[in-house]
Amino acid sequence: KKYVYSFREGNAQMRNLLGGKGANLAEMVKIGLPVPMGFTITTEACLNYYEEGEKISEDILSQIFQALDDLEKEMGKKLGDNEDPLLVSVRSGAVISMPGMMDTILNLGLNDESVKGLAAKTGNERFAYDSYRRFIQMFGDVVMEVEHDKFESIINEVKQKKGITQDTEMDADGWKEVIELYKEKIKDETGRKFPQDPKEQLLMAVEAVFKSWNNQRAKVYRRINKIPDDLGTAVNVQTMVFGNKGDDSGTGVAFTRNPSTGEKEVYGEFLMNAQGEDVVAGIRTPQSIKQLKDIMPDVYEQFINVCKLLEKHYRDMQDIEFTIENGKLFMLQTRSGKRTAQAAVKIAVDMVKEGLINKDEAILRVPAGQVETLLHRRIDPNADVKPIAKGLPASPGAASGHVVFDPDEAEAMGNEGQRVILVRTETTPDDIHGIVAAQGVLTSRGGMTSHAAVVARGMGKPCVSGCEAVKIDYEKGEFTVGQLVVKKGDVISIDGSTGEVMIGEVPMIDPELSDEFNKILSWADEIRKLKVRANADTPHDAKVALEFGAEGIGLCRTEHMFMAQDRLPIVQQMIMAETKEEREEALAKLLPIQQEDFEGIFEVMEGLPVTVRLLDPPLHEFLPNPEELIVEIMELKAKGCSKELQAKQEMLKKVRALREMNPMLGLRGCRLGLLYPEIYVMQVKAILKAACNLTKKGIKVIPEIEIPLVNHELELKTLREIVEKTAEEVFEEEGTKVHYFIGTMIELPRACLTAEEIANFADFFSFGTNDLTQTTFGFSRDDAEGKILPHYVEQKILSDSPFIVLDRKGVGSLMKMATDKGRSVKPDLLIGICGEHGGEPSSVEFCHMIGLDFVSCSPFRVPIARLAAAQAKI
Ligand code: ADP
Ligand code: MG
Ligand code: MG
Repeated sequence: KKYVYSFREGNAQMRNLLGGKGANLAEMVKIGLPVPMGFTITTEACLNYYEEGEKISEDILSQIFQALDDLEKEMGKKLGDNEDPLLVSVRSGAVISMPGMMDTILNLGLNDESVKGLAAKTGNERFAYDSYRRFIQMFGDVVMEVEHDKFESIINEVKQKKGITQDTEMDADGWKEVIELYKEKIKDETGRKFPQDPKEQLLMAVEAVFKSWNNQRAKVYRRINKIPDDLGTAVNVQTMVFGNKGDDSGTGVAFTRNPSTGEKEVYGEFLMNAQGEDVVAGIRTPQSIKQLKDIMPDVYEQFINVCKLLEKHYRDMQDIEFTIENGKLFMLQTRSGKRTAQAAVKIAVDMVKEGLINKDEAILRVPAGQVETLLHRRIDPNADVKPIAKGLPASPGAASGHVVFDPDEAEAMGNEGQRVILVRTETTPDDIHGIVAAQGVLTSRGGMTSHAAVVARGMGKPCVSGCEAVKIDYEKGEFTVGQLVVKKGDVISIDGSTGEVMIGEVPMIDPELSDEFNKILSWADEIRKLKVRANADTPHDAKVALEFGAEGIGLCRTEHMFMAQDRLPIVQQMIMAETKEEREEALAKLLPIQQEDFEGIFEVMEGLPVTVRLLDPPLHEFLPNPEELIVEIMELKAKGCSKELQAKQEMLKKVRALREMNPMLGLRGCRLGLLYPEIYVMQVKAILKAACNLTKKGIKVIPEIEIPLVNHELELKTLREIVEKTAEEVFEEEGTKVHYFIGTMIELPRACLTAEEIANFADFFSFGTNDLTQTTFGFSRDDAEGKILPHYVEQKILSDSPFIVLDRKGVGSLMKMATDKGRSVKPDLLIGICGEHGGEPSSVEFCHMIGLDFVSCSPFRVPIARLAAAQAKI
């Protein structure tokens, strides 16, 4: 089996075998770009390494040495040669890019002898020893597992002794001193000597890359991003080029378009006289790529042309890494660039205009799950905000939260539901869990491509980076900006679109859809088959939903109307009623109020269907909680107010009488309607009176009356008769008729199993997948989400919470069965979904697959559903 490929042998399609980096290096060689030559050890070799009990097999070893031999011949140099050494980098490259997750080693092949050869050959002693100390440092850290900080403190020691502050000021002798101390440190820490044999160095490095596949931060990254654990990583061995050779050398990273806004401009950063990670590590704040134009106009022009070529070739925005050695440009990496949702949308629309991609491709380029970030709130442009500092606008959006310096603490506070802003000098991959938990990230160092910025953009979190005015003191738990002291726990706000940092909360506004986003959505609308409705309970929500493109209301929950402050007492009076007459008296008071609610909503949704669900929750939800009541009763007793006391005591009795062991499985949904029909009668009256009133005004209304929690066909049959009878009465009274529908929510397994019977009495079905998930799994949603499901996901029993991503196998089978059974009786039965899943992309795709007519979700998720529905169709 072939385990090693020269860059000349591969191409971009071989990603699974060569990893993303290796495949794209080969592709760049193929299209004639300047890439330092090398070879790739495949992901299969990595898997083989683990199969063999963490050992590189003989076969693979000999293939590696053969490839090295070929490379040496091509370059006319030998690895680590004493006179003129070939030096290489050893780079990991997973199939799915995992930025900063795996470790790279540069300048491999240097040792106490070859460093002299390099110095003599290049006539640049400082460069040679700088390269050597970097190599020992990386090798020591990645391969021999000596903490990075230990090396940094040695450098600082030597710098201090020499009275300098910048690495660039260190001379060859300085580095020599550092090197000796490094080697001693490695010996002290590991009991082993730093290896001098170049081939031994190479094999140790390759093995370390294999091992890094299973290091802690790689595992965490894979878990967060749902990347399988059994892909393995490839290893790239590549001839070194040097950005640290002096002032006509440098290294940088760039995006072919702005990854934050999508603007069509090459966007990046570089450092002169620097190597590798210097740019992204945030140790020195880099220069903008535009400045390269002034420093080296020729290289700049060549670079811009390479960017254009790569975009044309890959037909996508690229994220590239490059190095300039003595004025000559080399490409070291290219891949599809990570981008914000905003940028994804703009780039997709622009590329259609430029003729690079078609509309279908454009729709697929925008991750539906990510566009939610476009719908985030931002700082009110009319508000009077006073920034205390300004950094780089590294990831757009605004956030407020309590200042936290420690990622563990951020995680703990985030889990408690607190809003925090993680403030660090710079971040490393070990801080990821803290970024996940935070609302936003603020760093005092690092550029737009620093780790914090890249990760935050990937997660759609606001980030301000390189905010140098912010001076952090971790020990004291505070940061200062000039005279101002901000302590841990204080609230700050950041605006990742402008880079501004503010004290306290600032006023934010609701998002609007950009022209580009509307364009993509209009393309999506042309394609999709699923209709998209919204869940809305008020005219305001209905308006928002319409603005976001909803084609109806799939769920209007009437209980929210019962909860309002001025209504609750009447609702309580209704519940406390001893007799039917008393209850009807209270209901009569509610009727005009509900009617007004419906009129408002119907009017907004003119001409579009509105599903109104009759009362669903258990009645005790409308009564005070017993502990509070008891406290009030004690107080009243002490004061001696007997009248009020009696009322409260009655209330307590009722609360206790209504108490259920499992309220979610208790007296709720259609069961309420069967036990207290007068409640549903009132609601139906309110709905249809509202409809009649508007019809008289010439406003078209399409009411769909929905009966919740039906289990048995006869429940629905009984209630349908009541609704129909009430409707006739209303139409008689109003002297007009409105066309309306009666349907049911399908949210219990039995309803799915007997859907062909239930369908006889239903004009439409709407899956209530929150309850259906709850009852199918037997998980109480309120408890399981916090206490059980995170462990299930952690242990990979479930890949996601089934309350977030629809469980296709279980709940989904029931849905499919109910859909098929229902349509076997009524081929054109209208079927939709109104659970939270209606706005989650993977669930929307499933709904498309089983042939539903519509999904319904919260107003802000309507654009997501429109996009996801189109993606499901493509
Ligand atoms: P990551 O996946 O973390 O970006 P890379 O393997 O891309 O790691 O290496 C990081 C950086 O190291 C590159 O961006 C480049 O600057 C530098 N580098 C890697 N290989 C070489 C090489 N052969 N010559 C010069 N620099 C290199
Ligand atoms: Mg890289
Ligand atoms: Mg329900």
